[in-house]
Order: sequence, then C-alpha cells, then structure tokens
Amino acid sequence: MLCLEIFCSYNDNIWNTQDQLILKQVEDGLNKLNFCKGIKVLDGIIKRFTYVYPLYQVDYKECQDKVLAYFSKFRNVYLTGRSGSHSYLDMEECIIKGKETISLILNK
Ligand SMILES: Cc1cc2nc3c(=O)[nH]c(=O)nc-3n(C[C@H](O)[C@H](O)[C@H](O)COP(=O)(O)OP(=O)(O)OC[C@H]3O[C@@H](n4cnc5c(N)ncnc54)[C@H](O)[C@@H]3O)c2cc1C
Repeated sequence: MLCLEIFCSYNDNIWNTQDQLILKQVEDGLNKLNFCKGIKVLDGIIKRFTYVYPLYQVDYKECQDKVLAYFSKFRNVYLTGRSGSHSYLDMEECIIKGKETISLILNK
C-alpha cells in the first residue's frame, strides 16, 4: 500500500481531476521513476483536504523554549529533526540540522 500526497489548491485543475485519472497519473509517474518495474495501481482512494498544513499557535515560541530548555540539561541527548526540535522544518532544514547534530557529537 502506498500513501501519496499530491499538492494542489482548492478548486484548481488537480483538485478537479477525476479520481481515476489521478490514479492513472500516479501509476505513470511511479513507472517513470523506474524504481520498480511494471507498477500497476489496482485500486485507490483519493481524499481532498482544503487546509492540511499545521499552524503555530500564538504562544508556540514560549512552549518550545520550555521544552528545549528542559532537554538542554541532558548532556547525552541531542534533539534534531522535525519532532526533535519541535519545529515545522522542511526536509532540507532537517538534513542541515542532522549534519549539525553529527558535528556536535563528533566534536564533543
Ligand atoms: C505527508 C507529508 C508531506 C511532506 N512533504 C514535504 C515536502 O514536500 N517537502 C519537504 O521539504 N518536506 C515535506 N515533508 C516534511 C518532511 O518529510 C519532514 O520535514 C522530514 O522528513 C522530517 O525529517 P526528520 O528527520 O525530522 O524525521 P523523519 O523523516 O520522520 O525521520 C524520523 C525517522 O525516525 C524513525 N524512528 C521513529 N521512532 C524511532 C525509534 N524509536 N527508533 C528508531 N527509529 C525511529 C522513523 O521511522 C523515521 O525513519 C512532508 C511530511 C509529510 C508527513
């Protein structure tokens, strides 16, 4: 089973594309990626969501500071990545943070 996210906006072309066509496009896309031969999508469910990305709450920074301050007391615990840093990081930022964490550990 695969779960895929197709980014779109409410009522745009992708949003209004028929489910069967989306599934066909997914199948074509997966086959183009070529990581597996002859992928056939047997079935699929398409769900459309208007607002899916989280928003920080107003006092987010104070809450985050408290959590990070608490964990900073532990000399052998390193918080990194999206969950670890309690930040809505994207992949690039996670990779940078991961590299920084490795440097911190190695240079300790
Ligand atoms: C649906 C969705 C769409 C996204 N789209 C984008 C996008 O288009 N562009 C973008 O930049 N970012 C996107 N992101 C965000 C991006 O995936 C994350 O920011 C990034 O993957 C977070 O990296 P991470 O290293 O913090 O955590 P993860 O990538 O989640 O890695 C954490 C790893 O730790 C493992 N793990 C968890 N618990 C344990 C344990 N106890 N022991 C051992 N291993 C464990 C997990 O299995 C996982 O492999 C998306 C995220 C989601 C969920």
